[in-house]
Amino acid sequence: MEQMKKLRKQLGCVILMALTACSSKTENQDQVDLKNEEPLSIIFMIGDGMGVPQVSTAYYFGDSLPNYSRFKSIGLHKTSDLKYEITDSAAGATAFAIGEKTYKRAIGVSVDSIPQETILENLQEKGYQTGLISLTSITHATPASFYAHVVDRDLHEDIAEQLVNSEVDFFAGGGKKFFNQREDGKDLFMALEEANYKLDTVELSETSLKKRNAYILADDGIPSKIEGRGDYLIEATQTALDYFGQKGKPFFMMVEGSYIDWGGHAKNAEMMISEVADFDKTLGVVLDYVEAHPNTLLVVTADHETGGASIGKYYETDESTGEKNEVPEKVAVYFNTDQHSGELIPVFAAGKGAEIFQGIYENNQIYHKMFQALNQK
Ligand code: MG
Ligand code: ZN
Repeated sequence: MEQMKKLRKQLGCVILMALTACSSKTENQDQVDLKNEEPLSIIFMIGDGMGVPQVSTAYYFGDSLPNYSRFKSIGLHKTSDLKYEITDSAAGATAFAIGEKTYKRAIGVSVDSIPQETILENLQEKGYQTGLISLTSITHATPASFYAHVVDRDLHEDIAEQLVNSEVDFFAGGGKKFFNQREDGKDLFMALEEANYKLDTVELSETSLKKRNAYILADDGIPSKIEGRGDYLIEATQTALDYFGQKGKPFFMMVEGSYIDWGGHAKNAEMMISEVADFDKTLGVVLDYVEAHPNTLLVVTADHETGGASIGKYYETDESTGEKNEVPEKVAVYFNTDQHSGELIPVFAAGKGAEIFQGIYENNQIYHKMFQALNQK
């Protein structure tokens, strides 16, 4: 059995294309003494497609002060990838994960398609617990960029296989079909269980402290808010925080509000607004955690804006006269594209090292700023 595990790990390394990060991560090896250093935990939240217009909706359509108002350190970043001024979610998340700008569709690889160690992998080697939460398939570009290394974001089956070997301690999202309805016929659910995962494909059940925890809760994506998702994002985030807290070791966790982007692509204001509101509610839970755990850094940003959204005047048409009248106490959301845009993107930071994220910089600097915070005494 132990032999099998080793073999699988070695195979995993081959699949990872001789990735430098794939040095053997056996227990009690390569781990710094965490007791004396009080290492910083990092919660990295990505609202996919969330620019200033999206954040603004929380201020016009919510009925209480948004949690965005709780941040004091705010910066902006420029999202462009190496070739295109207007990036995609793969290059965007990879820039955060590896600290380098790359090409569109790249997952955890540099511009020459060479796998690069991600911040998640780096911290894992230092003994950190790791976590990923998404609303999309857990193999989708944003979460994948933190644990996988493939040349194209559509290689979902390869990405799923790399997740099985990633040793990520907690993950929650969708994407069942990439694990058990695969073209190669493999059953990755079995492989996950063999890799010491407690697997649940139905609900966010209680975590097992003795195991890693995998929640793969939908065939493809988890429903959007307007399709009746409920509080999954908040609950998954809270469950992960509880799990990491009980294990008592520092952690790195990425939480994605995935469908803000999808609302923009669909030019669907209701979808976008409800996804931002849900993300803001989740922010509230995380900010409470950070306030109670001062040795934690929270960084909240997006890979790019989606929809070229703006907040503008709201008009009502008088039925009898056909006249258009502005309604002073209301706003409307307008979209000028169903694609991504090139707007600078806000970066909100709280907790230890938050001030490092003030200013205006390139997207890949966020990775370096997180390391600056980690190394800050
Ligand atoms: Mg995404
Ligand atoms: Zn998009």
